[in-house]
Amino acid sequence: MSAKTVPPPLIQDRKFVVPLLCGPGPCAYWPSVTEALAKPVITPNCDEFYNVLDDIRAGLQYVFQTKSKLVLAMSGAGHSGMEAVISNLVAPGETLLVASRGMWDQRAIIIANRLGIKTEITSVPSNTTFSMEQLESELKRTRPEAMFITFGDSSTGTIQNIERLGDICHKYGALLLVDTVVSLIGVEFLMDEWGVDAVFSATQKAFSGPAGIAPVAFSALAEEKINNRKHEPSFYFDIKLLANQWNCYGDTRTYHHTLCPPMLWALRCCLQEIVKETLPVSWARHASSTAYFHQRLQEYSIELFVPKPEERLNTVTTVMLPEGYDHLEFHNYMREKHNILVLEGRGPTLGKAIRVGIMGVNATKEVADKVADALADSIQALKK
Ligand code: PMP
Repeated sequence: MSAKTVPPPLIQDRKFVVPLLCGPGPCAYWPSVTEALAKPVITPNCDEFYNVLDDIRAGLQYVFQTKSKLVLAMSGAGHSGMEAVISNLVAPGETLLVASRGMWDQRAIIIANRLGIKTEITSVPSNTTFSMEQLESELKRTRPEAMFITFGDSSTGTIQNIERLGDICHKYGALLLVDTVVSLIGVEFLMDEWGVDAVFSATQKAFSGPAGIAPVAFSALAEEKINNRKHEPSFYFDIKLLANQWNCYGDTRTYHHTLCPPMLWALRCCLQEIVKETLPVSWARHASSTAYFHQRLQEYSIELFVPKPEERLNTVTTVMLPEGYDHLEFHNYMREKHNILVLEGRGPTLGKAIRVGIMGVNATKEVADKVADALADSIQALKK
């Protein structure tokens, strides 16, 4: 070999102690998902492959609660869903109104601005949520083509009521785009009933699967805009083309890009588990285990970042870090002493709170007890 060649590196086997995953994501898998990831590669262009896509689309219609045909999964993490929804529905030069209370709507602003979309921003303090009056008056003032809002916000631990928001947006000619990355499966969400026009999620949160495939769905109104639009979104995120790959309108079977078979198997398996449990049971399990977790924290006099119980998210809790504590030291102690992974605050909660997910397969009272006891011990142990 000449001096210019690169020698083979030493790639060692590495040991990894798996913690109890109780951050805002990724979450632990359903045990069946680990098996599903090892299933054989299904080749495209065969009936088996398209049957799997059909199963996934039917499961996604259930979890989004929509009868829309334009339902599929992006090959990418939650951000790919965010970018697909914005770039397919809002053209450069058009206006997106962003309801901002945390970190994810800030990402929507960055994505929109890079696409040449104008943004208007309306905010509330990050430990609260929006009133419909505020959102309606901002729609009236800014007359946007669409509004972006985060349903459950993992950076603040809040849940936004959006039950009447679709109708309000439509009254002013705007589409409603919703981030359900950390809320779907854990909190009731009814796409058709609430008039949501475009929604995206991710599989590493309450779905209890791997990150890397992002469910999306579009209403009839959104579909009409996509089919009549003059602008071209990026090729990889083009929903018109992806609809033909995913057979949204019949047996089109058009190649767009190579889908990842293990991810398809994994998503299909998560959906099977969710269908088996049913959504109402899953929503109730998340509500009761998170409420129990909050009660346990109160017993220890540990404060929450979100003051109003009805605005607290049932999947991710933002726990106040007491004055004088270092969030990294806290996080490391929880990992080393208790083998529990919780994460530091992000965006508005950075340095102020610890984010705890009692979510997906870990939404149980047993997990809530373990984490509450470990948090109380860590606060005691790290007292200066
Ligand atoms: N939105 C919300 C509410 C999230 O919690 C996250 C991830 N934590 C994202 C968007 C981005 O998802 P991803 O990291 O899968 O791209």
